Amino acid sequence: MSMYAAPVAKLIDEFEKLPGIGHKTAQRLAFYILNMPEDKAIEFANAIIDAKKKIHYCSVCGDLTDTDPCRVCSSQNRDRSVICVVESPRDVIAMERIREFKGLYHVLHGVISPLEGIGPEDINMKSLIKRIGEGETREVILATNPDVEGEATAMYLAKLIKPMGIKTTRIAHGLPVGGDLEYADEVTLAKSLEGRREI
Ligand SMILES: [Zn+2]
Repeated sequence: MSMYAAPVAKLIDEFEKLPGIGHKTAQRLAFYILNMPEDKAIEFANAIIDAKKKIHYCSVCGDLTDTDPCRVCSSQNRDRSVICVVESPRDVIAMERIREFKGLYHVLHGVISPLEGIGPEDINMKSLIKRIGEGETREVILATNPDVEGEATAMYLAKLIKPMGIKTTRIAHGLPVGGDLEYADEVTLAKSLEGRREI
């Protein structure tokens, strides 16, 4: 039998499912919630429900959004001839933070990883090729992370996109190898974007 009352055990269990949360931290968070005034705890729970209900993937670029198409895809102030391909919605936030990129995005939601059994059909790639085929695109910037899977995914995409007559570029290696786009500082990321080269 668990030493906790069932609802407490359940709460700890749910926290433990989150990335980077071990049992001890899960315990601490659960007890923190239990000590909260009830209205604050309900506010917290509602924020989760609200975000889950209102946020979905943009039907064009795959980014998380509460409108469809998302704000970037429907903006008149973006350069519609350039698409920056990234792995995750967090990378879009990292790119937006540097304020230098004025094009559109495409979020893959992962990378090709034969070791983990993730193939091209398992990520948001088909809709990218379809988008490019629609004719507005002049350049595709491959901004997957500079690790083995990110490089392999960029190469795979380049092989598909270049024959379509589209300029295909890869962000420069100013980024630490094996590093994550989302953790790069603004200057490094801006330089990496500026120094992109054709592949
Ligand atoms: Zn979008």
